[in-house]
Order: sequence, then structure tokens, then C-alpha cells
Amino acid sequence: MEHPENSSEYAGLQVNAGVAQPTIVNPYLNKMRKRRQVLFTVSEYVEGILKGDVTRLSQAVTLVESTLPEHQTVAQEVIEKCLPFSGNSIRVGISGVPGAGKSTSIDAFGVHLLDNYGGKLAVLAIDPSSEKTKGSILGDKTRMEKLSVHPKSFIRPSPTAGSLGGVARKTRETIILCEAAGYNNIFVETVGVGQSETACHSMVDYFLLIQLAGTGDELQGIKRGIMEISDGIVINKADGDNIDRANLAATQFRNALHLFPMPESGLIPEVRCYSGFYGIGIDEVLQMIFHFIDHVKANGYFQYRRNEQAKYWMYESINEQLRNSFYYNPVVKAKISQAEQDVLGGKVTSFVAANRLIDSYLNELRGNS
Ligand code: GDP
Repeated sequence: MEHPENSSEYAGLQVNAGVAQPTIVNPYLNKMRKRRQVLFTVSEYVEGILKGDVTRLSQAVTLVESTLPEHQTVAQEVIEKCLPFSGNSIRVGISGVPGAGKSTSIDAFGVHLLDNYGGKLAVLAIDPSSEKTKGSILGDKTRMEKLSVHPKSFIRPSPTAGSLGGVARKTRETIILCEAAGYNNIFVETVGVGQSETACHSMVDYFLLIQLAGTGDELQGIKRGIMEISDGIVINKADGDNIDRANLAATQFRNALHLFPMPESGLIPEVRCYSGFYGIGIDEVLQMIFHFIDHVKANGYFQYRRNEQAKYWMYESINEQLRNSFYYNPVVKAKISQAEQDVLGGKVTSFVAANRLIDSYLNELRGNS
């Protein structure tokens, strides 16, 4: 560029040649963006998973959990390709209130299972609270000290984003990837409050409920529904001077279970005492699960339950996608808060407001098609 200041007649300060400016302001910004891109092709993910490559499996699970549309597209293709290699496992749901000893027990059950019966174990989780706290507690490696360093285990905390339905769907999809990677045992941990047990029950072959003894009125605090979906009940912390109370609680549970109608599995749920912390009765709990699985494989209930679950998940998936499509629709988004105000102000009934929103949504869809 011509600078008149640099001519020989000019008496003031001259202009120096500048240095080349960097093309972008923050060079690390690019790196951060790159990390959000899909790192591998669908076949690279699938090949890695089928080879049992844990790093590739983790990366694929991260895609499954991502809400970015480009991640979801790849994730769905990977899941579809892994589907024919999935299903060959025993899926066990493990539920209990906070403090019941879930992580201590999973650590004990998991290590005992791998060391005595071989195979591989994936521990996944469904944690409905994680949406609010933005941090998942369940399935945390630090809570499963021995299992987390076991070469045959894969531990993954609960996905955090989205509704319970969304979180549960991601866990179910992760089961498929883990099975394709050769994990023939899957534990799904869930906290025994709210709807999460139902979601967990809908993806496992065996649902284990961990209970505690000691309060004297064990049965009163337990929701009927959770006992009805349990395939087995175990009383943890049966150690020290808690043993008698644990045995008493087990008797009470057995008596109560006999009052329920016979479950579809054809087996009345067994009740056992054990101590996850001291490693007492661990093999007996595993035997109880194996016995159930053998029984239901023989009587056809195992496959029936999996088929029912597949159907359930198809409808769940439709519901979730329709709901998302509606609430994320720009027209709906623009109108929904006004509609809410109108309902609150008594200008329209809830039903009219809902119908109008749905009409606007459908009109917009037709316009787009
Ligand atoms: P979670 O919240 O259900 O995962 O429960 P944790 O596994 O974190 O256990 C809660 C507390 O109970 C911890 O302090 C454990 O050490 C203790 N605990 C777990 N299992 C046993 C057991 O078998 N016996 C005894 N005495 N304590 C246990």
C-alpha cells in the first residue's frame, strides 16, 4: 500500500511494514470444532466394535448419546449394522434406593461373574436425575473400584441429556453396541425411585431389586408396582448384627410375594440375603439369576419378553420422535407460550388451545411437503 508518510519530503514519522496477521483469532477454536465432528466412518465404527475395540465402542456410544443431528445420523447407521450381531447376552437390571448398595453389589457381582464364569460384562445406567444435576451418579467407575480396572469390563455412566424416555432409549441402543462388541453380560443400574425402574425393566431379561432390612416395616415403604416387576429380590448388608433382621425381611418378602398372582415368567421371584461389601452370598445371587434365565429360555418366556420389548421400543420411539417434531417445530415454538397465556387467562380451554397448536403444526408440515 502507498503511504505518503514514507515519501522523502515528509518530515514526520514514517510507517513501518506490518507483520502478517493470523487468519483466525483463536487457533484452538478450530480444534474444538473438529472434536464435534464425526471422527470415523460408519464402517470404521462397526469394524472396531465387532473386533471388541473398547475405544471405538466408547466413541460410538458418545455418538449415540449426542443430540447433534449429524452424530445421530451416523449413530443410527452404526446401530443398524450392529443389530445382527446383538442379542446374545443376559441383560440384568439392578435397582435399589440410593444407599441400598447398588454400586458395591455390582462391583462384587461383576468381578465374581467374570472371574468364575468368564465372558465380558458391560455396566450401563439409567439415571433420571442426571438431567437436572447435569452429572450422572449411576454407573460411575469410581464407585466400582475392582470392576472398573477389570480387563473384561466396560462401565458407562448414564446418558445425561433429555427426558427419561430419551435417556432410556440411548441406554437400550448402547446395549446393542456392547453386545456386538462381545459383551455377553449386561448390567443396567437404575435408581429405585420414580419411573426409571419401568424403563429399565423394559430392556432387561431379569430385574433384580436390592432391598435393605433393619427398619422393621420393610414392606410398607415399597411400592407394589416395583415388587410386581421384580424377577428376584435380594436383601443386602446381611452381615454383622444385621443378619437376623435381613433374614426376617426375606421371610416377609417371601410371604408377600406369594400373595401376588403368578408372574408370566412362571416363576415366583426368589428372595435371598447377601452382603455386597463382605462378599457373602454373591454366588447364590448369581445362581438365582442363572436359574431364572435357564427356566425362561426353556419355557419360551425369554424370547417372548424380548419380542414384547422390541415392540414397546418401536412405539416409544415413535412417541418420542413425534413429540420432538412437534415441540421443535418453529411454528409451534412461536405460538406455544401465547397459547399457554391464553389458557391461564381463561381465554380458551386447554383442549381448544391444544387443537389449534396441532392444526398449526399439521398445516406447517403440509406446507413443507
Ligand atoms: P448405592 O447408592 O445403592 O450405589 O449404594 P453404595 O454401593 O454406594 O453403598 C452405600 C453404602 O452402603 C456405602 O457406604 C457402602 O459401603 C455400604 N454398603 C454397601 N454394601 C454393603 C454391605 O453389604 N454391607 C454393609 N455393611 N455395608 C454396605
